[in-house]
Amino acid sequence: MGDTSHHHQVLIVGGGTAGITVAASLRRRGRRAVDIAIVEPSDTHYYQPAFTLVGAGVYDLARTRRPTDSLLPAGVGRIKAAAESFDPANNAVALSNGDTVTYDYLVVCTGVKFDWRKIAALREALGHGGVCSNYSPDHVGYTWECIKALKPGGRAVFTQPPLPFKCPGAPQKIVYLTADHLRRQGIRADVDVSYYVHAPVIFGSPIRR
Ligand SMILES: Cc1cc2nc3c(=O)[nH]c(=O)nc-3n(C[C@H](O)[C@H](O)[C@H](O)COP(=O)(O)OP(=O)(O)OC[C@H]3O[C@@H](n4cnc5c(N)ncnc54)[C@H](O)[C@@H]3O)c2cc1C
Repeated sequence: MGDTSHHHQVLIVGGGTAGITVAASLRRRGRRAVDIAIVEPSDTHYYQPAFTLVGAGVYDLARTRRPTDSLLPAGVGRIKAAAESFDPANNAVALSNGDTVTYDYLVVCTGVKFDWRKIAALREALGHGGVCSNYSPDHVGYTWECIKALKPGGRAVFTQPPLPFKCPGAPQKIVYLTADHLRRQGIRADVDVSYYVHAPVIFGSPIRR
């Protein structure tokens, strides 16, 4: 879906879960007449919460993928480009395709960007030798390979970094799903499952009794 207009009443930068939801919400609240455009470079949208299930071997990675355009609410145009810089004094956004687009209202939903390099050698280690991550479609398939390969006497180490990261529940969920897989295999007691958290607690909110 191309877009040739260079001014929109509402410009949404980032057409992931948040960007598409904001556009749909504006439409659903009766704002049919409002001109909305989404700046999103990727033709593919991933339903990221299901990565946890892919890593646990109970969901197919292909089912997490949809064409981005198929998810846009009717009447919402996509500008296939990335935002390069913001010029709020002029209500303008410069795009990677060289265009500048202006707006009345701007919504920024560019999500969280991975920076594997923040941990020394992680980028090189990922995807082999038992090092996996559920946070990327490029690596989540390998998580299930690693879990399947666990044998009595083996050790599975899971980590949770400090925020910000994409989903605080995700690191815990794959631990529980791994433990469940091991239980079903009858080897739960024979595999050491460790969970390393940055904080002294695993839930941010205190338990109310
Ligand atoms: C493994 C995993 C498990 C999760 N589990 C859950 C769960 O159980 N429940 C739950 O609620 N949430 C879960 N989440 C979190 C959920 O997926 C995110 O909160 C959600 O996707 C965030 O939406 P977003 O639109 O902010 O970011 P995203 O969905 O990541 O979208 C950001 C978009 O911005 C685009 N973008 C980036 N830079 C630019 C730019 N410069 N210009 C234009 N576009 C740009 C990207 O291409 C992308 O499409 C999980 C996430 C992961 C990874």
